Amino acid sequence: FLRLIEPIRFLFGGVGRLAGGLVDFQQLLGLLSEPVELETGDPVLPGNGPLTLEFDRVAFAYPGRENVLDEISFKVPAGRAVALVGASGAGKSTIARLIFRLYSPDRGAIFVDGVAIDRFTPAAIRAAIAIVPQDTVLFHDSIAANIGFARPDASAAEIDEAVCLAGLAPLIERLPDGLETIVGERGLKLSGGEKQRVAIARAILKRPRLFVLDEATSALDSATERTILDNLARTTAGVTTIMIAHRLSAIRAANEILVIDHGRVVEQGNHAELLVRDGLYAHMWRAQTEHS
Ligand code: ADP
Ligand code: MG
Repeated sequence: FLRLIEPIRFLFGGVGRLAGGLVDFQQLLGLLSEPVELETGDPVLPGNGPLTLEFDRVAFAYPGRENVLDEISFKVPAGRAVALVGASGAGKSTIARLIFRLYSPDRGAIFVDGVAIDRFTPAAIRAAIAIVPQDTVLFHDSIAANIGFARPDASAAEIDEAVCLAGLAPLIERLPDGLETIVGERGLKLSGGEKQRVAIARAILKRPRLFVLDEATSALDSATERTILDNLARTTAGVTTIMIAHRLSAIRAANEILVIDHGRVVEQGNHAELLVRDGLYAHMWRAQTEHS
């Protein structure tokens, strides 16, 4: 089981084993097509609309460490967007990893459309969800392949649309080989912000039933971030979305903000309500706006 989980985990988790953030695509496919002995459960999620997501008293610790999530509970109705904010180390990315089944809760349960996620295979869950992880890994392959690997059936027009929405068009136009440019150690090295935009294009193209955006625009300048967040808001409209952000300006417009501290939801509301409450969120907001 660990042999299966590990390669996937360092693709999406912040483990940093791939220092360069790159892995050979063929090698990855090889790893992923190893026999999956212990992958039990229903191989398909019923329905095809946006998912509801619920955490019910979920507790979790990384092996041999103290608790990261402490009986955390929250619910995201189908089609709604919720922002998760909190200090670095609060447990936000861990929540994303549990949703994507890179780890399982120690106690409590996670439900999609009311069904515990361990009733499904991890592959079934991952097919329905798109994650833009904090640290994006690109395969040593073309930009087109990097964007399209979750949707091999996608048309060129669909890839172009995802490229535009993710703000990658100016970059692609500058490259002599365009979308066919090979990225990777022996190819073109992309900046952190460019890699994030490839990951965003990949997620948009996937047309998931649940988006999880984990500091997806953290490496972009504020003007580019604004444009891409607007595009994302249109793309994710009607799709259940969990948006994790450290930079509060990125989620200020969210209807529902959950403030995470030490693995618990400590405050909940919209931006104005949380400012009035004058708690942790208001404190973080003041700290971040004082410096800008
Ligand atoms: P956030 O995304 O809110 O910054 P994380 O969920 O990444 O927080 O991390 C929560 C806590 O778990 C931190 O103390 C972090 O050091 C620890 N942690 C994160 N990933 C791992 C891991 N793979 N192994 C052990 N501890 C981890
Ligand atoms: Mg994080």
